[in-house]
Amino acid sequence: MAAANVEDQRLTAPEEPRRRVPFLTVVDPAGDAAFDASTPSRKEIKQNIKHLEYVCSGCGEEKRADQMKACGRCKIARYCSTQCQKSDWKRHKLDCVVPSEGGDVGQYRDVTLKLAARVGANEALMDNILLHSVLQLGLLRDSSLAEKYVIRVTCGNSPADLQGYMNGLINGDGPPEDVQVLLTCQAIDRIPLEEAPPLVRRFEMEKRARYIQSGGRDPFVIIYFVNEEGDMGVSIHGRPVCEAMLAYMSTKPTMEIRSAMFGTSVVPLDEKAIIQQFNNMIRMDKSNKFKLRSYPMPKPTQDPVNASIEEASS
Ligand SMILES: [Zn+2]
Ligand SMILES: [Zn+2]
Repeated sequence: MAAANVEDQRLTAPEEPRRRVPFLTVVDPAGDAAFDASTPSRKEIKQNIKHLEYVCSGCGEEKRADQMKACGRCKIARYCSTQCQKSDWKRHKLDCVVPSEGGDVGQYRDVTLKLAARVGANEALMDNILLHSVLQLGLLRDSSLAEKYVIRVTCGNSPADLQGYMNGLINGDGPPEDVQVLLTCQAIDRIPLEEAPPLVRRFEMEKRARYIQSGGRDPFVIIYFVNEEGDMGVSIHGRPVCEAMLAYMSTKPTMEIRSAMFGTSVVPLDEKAIIQQFNNMIRMDKSNKFKLRSYPMPKPTQDPVNASIEEASS
């Protein structure tokens, strides 16, 4: 279970925006140690990423990421075979994203989805999404609501070094280029099952049936990721909400926020606080053990129309 989290102590504010001033920085070694102890280890994450399963954009089958091939143009869509890629191209060419075509906004689109695909390797973050789902689906009232909706997590990205980025802006140097970005969660919404993308609906049907067949009785939640433009990522997840989690949420839990500016405050663990906790956790991961920080993707190769399948890179 995700422990009460701590707001990034290094989020800072300028004292005088007009001059070159050092930003207030508070480092909290005790907080860093607690963070490391309460989140998955680097080794665990690495193992999990290796075993992540992606959904074939063509046929909807799930396979291990390293057994799939990525669209050579956007490197987002994944396919289990050349045949699936070919048969899906007519549909996929409409949303096949080339970073250079999107201008400023599009530059990091694929980075968002690349990082979002790794959230499934991190149970602490997935727990946050599940806690949110309990509230949003109203599972404390009626656990069958998990069957009528799916959970859509909208992600974006933000400069990893917010302080350096803000420094550059405020001191008039302009936004630094090629800055490392980290994954952010913008919103978590429930979508009626019948309005969910076809791949998600198919996934839901198969996964839920398999879960029930294996004797699962807990509310089973389907989670998928999109970027801010609504493009869907390659991983979809089915997760049961265990009784302990339901019990925890029924106690009306609180969360402690420690901020360099505002001191410590205790807030109810509501939907907004859970998203904040999710984002804090990624921002606190300065050593990038979660692998949720990255530089923008390299420019795509020319001749995108050919869009030949390339081996999925690690
Ligand atoms: Zn396929
Ligand atoms: Zn593509």
